[in-house]
Amino acid sequence: MKTRSMTRQELRLRRSKFLCLPPEIFIQICAHLLPKDLASLLRVCKQLYNELSIVEPSSTIQKIWKQSRLRFMPLRILDPPKGMSEQEYIKLLIEKKCSLCGKKSRKSKIYWDVKVRACESCYEGGTVTGIELFYFNYSACEIITCIPFTNIRGDSKSYWRFLVEAKLKEYKSLRGIERYHWVYEQTKQTEEIQSEVTKRWREDYSNSKNDFKYDSFNI
Ligand SMILES: [Zn+2]
Repeated sequence: MKTRSMTRQELRLRRSKFLCLPPEIFIQICAHLLPKDLASLLRVCKQLYNELSIVEPSSTIQKIWKQSRLRFMPLRILDPPKGMSEQEYIKLLIEKKCSLCGKKSRKSKIYWDVKVRACESCYEGGTVTGIELFYFNYSACEIITCIPFTNIRGDSKSYWRFLVEAKLKEYKSLRGIERYHWVYEQTKQTEEIQSEVTKRWREDYSNSKNDFKYDSFNI
């Protein structure tokens, strides 16, 4: 159902009503809201949310977000990626805005290796395929096991350019045995990232939000 957007006066009135609520009642209300509505409400009632963050431990606030996710997005059972709060995670799941250019795009996708949502154009411009690296940046191929791939483009894996450059810079700053250890550790980390990403691709697939090929998981 299409809803009319609120006027500034209505918004101010609604905001002030929420500001009169005691934090425990506010929490009760939040616990029954859709993630999308929860995000909107907390944006509007920023002052109350900030106060709530002071009086409530962050675990309570995280619990509200998690409860909302599990209740209304039952196929999103994986917890947020390491280093990401429930709030940031839900925002990444529901917002269609590209994290790189800021434009809204219905075709935007989440790239879990770098934890960003990107539109088609930022993905195309920001990534390079393994085949392109082979022809134009062969030194990156020497450390390819140290770079997580983000998706499949054509018949080849694709990698974020900034990640390739950062890893190469790090690798080139090392000498001799240091390089050997670095490659060993980075390869291990990359395998862990790739395994985590594969789980999230499966969940994306179950949610039918993304149109990548299921076959690509083991390539
Ligand atoms: Zn973009």
